Amino acid sequence: MTALTSESTSVTTQAARRRSIAVISHPDAGKSTLTEALALHAHAIDQAGAVHGKGNRAGVVSDWLEMEQKRGISITSAALQFVYRDVVINLLDTPGHADFSEDTYRVLTAVDAAVMLLDAAKGLEPQTLKLFEVCRRRGVPVITFVNKWDRPGREVLDLCDELVERIDLRPTPVNWPVGEAGRFVGLLDREDDHVTTYRRAPGGATIAEERTLDAEQAAAELEADYTEAVEGAGLLDAVDPETFASGESTPLLFGAALANIGVRRLLDAVVDLAPAPGARPTVDGGARPVDAPFSGFVFKMQAGMDPKHRDHVAYLRVCSGRFERGMTVVHERTKRPFATKYALSVFGRERSTVEDAYPGDVVGLVNAGALAVGDTVYEPEGPAVRFPPMPAFEPEHFAVARATDPGKSKQFRKGMAQLEQEGVVQVLVSDLRGDASPVLAAVGPLQFEVASFRMEHEFSAPMTLETLPLSVARHIEPDDAPAVASYTGAEVARRRDGERLALLRDVWHARAFERSHPDVALVPLVGGG
Ligand code: GDP
Repeated sequence: MTALTSESTSVTTQAARRRSIAVISHPDAGKSTLTEALALHAHAIDQAGAVHGKGNRAGVVSDWLEMEQKRGISITSAALQFVYRDVVINLLDTPGHADFSEDTYRVLTAVDAAVMLLDAAKGLEPQTLKLFEVCRRRGVPVITFVNKWDRPGREVLDLCDELVERIDLRPTPVNWPVGEAGRFVGLLDREDDHVTTYRRAPGGATIAEERTLDAEQAAAELEADYTEAVEGAGLLDAVDPETFASGESTPLLFGAALANIGVRRLLDAVVDLAPAPGARPTVDGGARPVDAPFSGFVFKMQAGMDPKHRDHVAYLRVCSGRFERGMTVVHERTKRPFATKYALSVFGRERSTVEDAYPGDVVGLVNAGALAVGDTVYEPEGPAVRFPPMPAFEPEHFAVARATDPGKSKQFRKGMAQLEQEGVVQVLVSDLRGDASPVLAAVGPLQFEVASFRMEHEFSAPMTLETLPLSVARHIEPDDAPAVASYTGAEVARRRDGERLALLRDVWHARAFERSHPDVALVPLVGGG
């Protein structure tokens, strides 16, 4: 028994020294640059540029899929792990750009906090807003980092107003820029009114030179810039852990990731403010404490990364206990044992075996073809557990799939079923089109490309896709499918769980339908809840 107790103490200690976060941002706000800078500050790498290759900087962009190489984008997301101030930070990648997909949202089910990265000149942008909404629905607290302060941008208070007015999020400054965007002198720390001034290192590849001035020195050296900064920061409330945790306020920081300015302060904020992994709610209404025997859930599946092996990797967030490579776990959905001989941690392109992992960590399980997104696994010696299924997110892209070769209909069906189960795309069947021509639904068009690639290469059933002029899926309440089916420009399709959904051209079309059918409501498929 003593061994068990000390094991559980050590799990609690390990969980307490972990922060699992994701960066949410719109393309080009500087996520890759920030990721590099974070890792650089944490000394995970020697020189910025070694994590995510961009441009001509040498990098380790994951390139498992042939398709990825052709398109020059990274579909496979890496979880980067580094230690800062003796805290293990797990930075889960949220793919952006053209590869925006359901996976991007799903990552947010596996983190305890998010960093919302804004471009100082642009403020809130569409993809940031979408990802922020998922955080809000899931109760993921958000730290805000305003990037590119070295360039001309918007006024600080204007950006703060935008957060309040558009997303009802109250900014509470951790620091405040001295000198407006573009004529940036340093950062005022709200806690002690000290200012850190920066001189950018040549090329931006190393940490900018810093000097810390106390309030008196700063007032003497920086004069009006300092006074203005103190006044500006004083207009807003100080960081408040309670409203941060409840999603009403956001700690606000400024900086320039490219020049490594303000990045260390961001890391400090993550360590000091972001919550450590805690008890995870279970479907039975309880919660699994972190010191319970090992358990975790799959938040992402990846297949065909290595064309020679056609392996399926299931990315798991550890929720409780200690994961040890080689342990046999129970796959909750099938109650079958699953051997974890080949467990991986994935860092960019490099996949190395992981020996053990603790709550908040990410583990990749190889040969995981039987697992699906949302599945729970747990240690057989402990009590069984089931975490809530992965929420379905609102699809915005729809296409009809058909087997290119009608003789391959069996492989086609098998492939469709597998892709649906893994969560690559949602597969809907409409009475009108029949199940030989299912309607694929996705959050981002890249999901279609991944599905096509795998249908051809993995299931030997190439398919053709016909994009549909639809962008909205809704619940039909009450289920008056015939009314929707007979409405011009609308379709009805059945989801895997049997529910019939209305598919419509756009939200205006949905409203027009509701006006002409006052007894039927078309209800959004609120994702992320
Ligand atoms: P991502 O698409 O969000 O990953 O953005 P990147 O990290 O690729 O950055 C987009 C562009 O913004 C690149 O040209 C970066 O060099 C630039 N950038 C990123 N951070 C900063 C910054 O702090 N200041 C300036 N001036 N440019 C930046």
